[in-house]
Amino acid sequence: MAGTRGALMGLILVFGTAYGQSAPAAGTRTQPAVSPEGRDSLKITLRMYNYGVARSTLVQAEGKATVILNQAGLETAWVDCPATPAEFKSYPACQRPLSTTDFAVKLVTADEPDRFHSHHEAMGRAMPCTRDQDGCSAYVFYRKVLEVAADGIADKSQVLGHAMVHEIGHLLLGPDSHTASGIMRGRWDKRDLQTIAQGYLAFSERQSEHIREEIRERSAVQQVQLGKAQMQ
Ligand SMILES: [Zn+2]
Repeated sequence: MAGTRGALMGLILVFGTAYGQSAPAAGTRTQPAVSPEGRDSLKITLRMYNYGVARSTLVQAEGKATVILNQAGLETAWVDCPATPAEFKSYPACQRPLSTTDFAVKLVTADEPDRFHSHHEAMGRAMPCTRDQDGCSAYVFYRKVLEVAADGIADKSQVLGHAMVHEIGHLLLGPDSHTASGIMRGRWDKRDLQTIAQGYLAFSERQSEHIREEIRERSAVQQVQLGKAQMQ
């Protein structure tokens, strides 16, 4: 399994404007949701394309992200995906067909591509994502994560986990989903980082409801698409 690679050295906390269930298999880590009482359990799968974040950092970041997504009512399965096409065969879980509740999270450790430079302070970018789209994707720029972590308030895995959830939030809530507080705040200040270090920034209840509804709708779309595929 490819996976661990060295992290790079790395306070600017601006996020880019974004646009926009499967059974466990090898390479899949399901962290079961403890469904808040009275809520149904909704599942998403996050396919992780790791271009150089240390394995231990990523696992911790996934743990933090799981807690935040769980709090919003989502059960999350994490799937390792290859960093290069040549490694594809080593990642069987990543070969499953994509669905509308699968999302790709790409951890970029080099400078972000020029096409993303419109917000050069951004820690990530979510690509346009329609409800019937399989495998919507978001990028997290790890160098920016390290810059934020460098001030010593929250560590890199905590910041990374939050940055991943923030971009997933854009995939599910849309591009204009920044709020004055919480995980969808467009700029995290010192107090936010202290919250990140001590616990986590959460989705608001309204955002959580919106997210659950979006996953319900996406699941329904997926069922329709599966039905059509079986009739062909
Ligand atoms: Zn944002």
